[in-house]
Amino acid sequence: MPGLEDLYREIVLDHYRNPRNRGELPCPPARRAEGFNPLCGDEVVVYTDLADGMVRDVRFGGQGCSISQSTASMMSVAVKGRSLEEVEKLERSFKAMMSIVTDGGEVAPPADLGDLEALRGVVKFPVRIKCATLCWNTLTESLRS
Ligand code: ZN
Repeated sequence: MPGLEDLYREIVLDHYRNPRNRGELPCPPARRAEGFNPLCGDEVVVYTDLADGMVRDVRFGGQGCSISQSTASMMSVAVKGRSLEEVEKLERSFKAMMSIVTDGGEVAPPADLGDLEALRGVVKFPVRIKCATLCWNTLTESLRS
């Protein structure tokens, strides 16, 4: 059985205790999307401010387990200031790390995931993968809204 230390890495706990970019953005002009993971009871709200095809600013709110909230914090740092193309690449790389094959079954090109790499151990806990991907799905929804 995989050890819990694979799940709760120090950097993950740090993002949970000291979340980055937690808060709200005025809508409009920002976009807002809500996500819910009924398996665990996690809620994530993502606010994105887009300008010239870039994620100029991002905030998140919500409540839930440490994996769902720390992933949202790490994701916000990773996507802020990135182009939509880069954000899509990050999401595909992250989901590939979670063993989720995205559209077409194509292998995602590797992207520098930064702190998100610390979540690699989540894949050993299949029930928690939805905790880690919730904020990404919510982000995508906000970008498409
Ligand atoms: Zn959860």
